[in-house]
Amino acid sequence: MPTYTPPLRDMQFVLHEVFNVADEFKAMPAHAETDADTINAVLEEAGKFAAEVAFPLNIGGDTEGCTLDVKTHAVTTPKGFKEAYAQYVEGGWPALSCDPQFGGQGLPHTVNQCLYEMLNSANQAWTMYPGLSHGAYEALVAHGTDEQKKTYLPKLVSGEWTGTMCLTEPHCGTDLGLLRTKAEPQADGSYKLTGNKIFISAGEHDMAENIVHLVLARLPDAPKGSKGISLFVVPKFKVNADGSLGERNPIFCTGLEHKMGIHGNATAQIALDGAVGSLVGEPNKGLAAMFVMMNAARLGVGNQSLGLTEVAFQNALAYAKDRIQMRSLSGVKAKDKDADPIIVHPDVRKMLLTAKAYAEGGRALQIFCTLLLDKAHHHPDEKVRKNSDELVALLTPIVKAFITDNGHISTNACMQVFGGHGFIKEWGMEQFVRDNRINMIYEGTNTVQSLDLLGRKVLGNNGATLKKFGKLIGQLVEEEGVNEKMAEFINPLAYLGDQMTKFTTEIGFKGFQNPDEVGAAAVDYLRVAGHLVFAYMFARMAQVALRQIAAGSTDPFYTAKLQTARFYFAKLFPETATLMRTARSGSKALMDTDAALA
Ligand SMILES: Cc1cc2nc3c(=O)[nH]c(=O)nc-3n(C[C@H](O)[C@H](O)[C@H](O)COP(=O)(O)OP(=O)(O)OC[C@H]3O[C@@H](n4cnc5c(N)ncnc54)[C@H](O)[C@@H]3O)c2cc1C
Repeated sequence: MPTYTPPLRDMQFVLHEVFNVADEFKAMPAHAETDADTINAVLEEAGKFAAEVAFPLNIGGDTEGCTLDVKTHAVTTPKGFKEAYAQYVEGGWPALSCDPQFGGQGLPHTVNQCLYEMLNSANQAWTMYPGLSHGAYEALVAHGTDEQKKTYLPKLVSGEWTGTMCLTEPHCGTDLGLLRTKAEPQADGSYKLTGNKIFISAGEHDMAENIVHLVLARLPDAPKGSKGISLFVVPKFKVNADGSLGERNPIFCTGLEHKMGIHGNATAQIALDGAVGSLVGEPNKGLAAMFVMMNAARLGVGNQSLGLTEVAFQNALAYAKDRIQMRSLSGVKAKDKDADPIIVHPDVRKMLLTAKAYAEGGRALQIFCTLLLDKAHHHPDEKVRKNSDELVALLTPIVKAFITDNGHISTNACMQVFGGHGFIKEWGMEQFVRDNRINMIYEGTNTVQSLDLLGRKVLGNNGATLKKFGKLIGQLVEEEGVNEKMAEFINPLAYLGDQMTKFTTEIGFKGFQNPDEVGAAAVDYLRVAGHLVFAYMFARMAQVALRQIAAGSTDPFYTAKLQTARFYFAKLFPETATLMRTARSGSKALMDTDAALA
């Protein structure tokens, strides 16, 4: 059976020692009171909930899955899910980073980020129920009418109701411009929605008394394509004027998908049969409104893989110390045993360190990003807000795709550490691999993320935001460029930073002549950009660790951090050279292949 220990020390290192979040919060009136002690106390309790309540339900949830009663359209979640959710609501966790005017506790997103990392390590399938509610909350805060905010936000914040995002239809996934669900205006100002959605996460369940569906649909006179999509809020139970629950709205679960992983989460087929909803935001501008939820969800999906990478690493490390097989190539290490523990073998260490480095780099990036989000929302200086917002936009596809791809690499590596036992269910490792796999697909596949990064976020503004990130690298290089001890971290970072401009310009120029060149380079490009960002994170973490050691600290944590950073730069970062080479090899080898793909 797997185990899980919340990585509080590493979280606190990133939060307080690398990014000094409490000082940053002091500059934001909404968070000025959030000090390090408060954050640590919240995270300790959050860790207990994750490890003691959500984690023990993970394997059972996977084995049992969700069941649908086709007659009543009711979905039953796995044993214990409902009770754990009640405990979560009772503890006030859904309200953690929500606005106090809707009943929230008003803590920074950065704290919520750490809560969710731990929940995802513990039980990704369960965590998706409250996770989607938070995205629906954010979309309604940004685009809801006063009436919608009054009706839905306090219940989403308390967790009494949960949320969903209903975009996908059988014929339309990536290309939402193809969607067909119709919304007919009614005399009373409401809309009646008719259509079929598929793959709706947490689309039906027994954990909360109402479900708030955010649904994309078309008005009768809507233009074709993505410019004709509007957003609607459609509750499972209609809500009476006094806030009590009214009659059942005809938005029904008609089937549950049988899938590879996250079995504890209900992936619902949803039929809307004249379901009553209200318009969110402006007509035909629904996609822009939904993007608030989608962007939050993209950062959330990166966080799912971060959680799985961490828990897979912890279990693989424990196993590698315990399992004995063969002797070390460099001589017997455990004389008292018949063989050495497998952790002595270089490649086993490589697998472990890969997961450790991707977890620690991912944690630093996720926290960096959510701190930017807090600044974008709450910093008093408009320039800081704008700058932070632009950086989050640039980093969002990297968080989504790079961290989930790394999650795939890491959970597989950790399963491999277990040899044949990794393939056997009771060890829990194959579940981490299966659960992680969807993270590379939903919320826009990782290919789509790479097109968003290279096409829209980089080439779309002539590299202006990328240059802003480059400026951060430049500052660090200037600060540490003469520090010999930092050279092993700063030199590769500075080198890639310099190369990035030329690399981007080259692809941009080729793409100008032939757009397929962008499509051919995008996935490799995103991975190079991901390493640029991770290299910056590791250089910042190494900087703190070196300073602590120079100041006399003997805490092994700092030595471990330096060793992980060294491993990262020696064994993972160098793939950027190959990636740049394959990106530069162009589109011909892909597109001039009609015979090969005939
Ligand atoms: C378990 C699960 C949960 C989900 N939860 C939700 C949910 O809660 N709400 C919701 O609305 N949806 C949800 N989805 C749907 C999910 O977001 C879509 O599956 C995803 O966006 C991809 O759409 P698709 O499956 O139709 O694939 P397609 O769009 O058909 O894509 C097929 C392949 O073509 C590639 N491709 C498509 N266009 C391009 C392009 N321009 N360039 C390069 N490659 C391209 C894709 O990357 C992919 O590899 C969920 C799906 C699953 C499986």
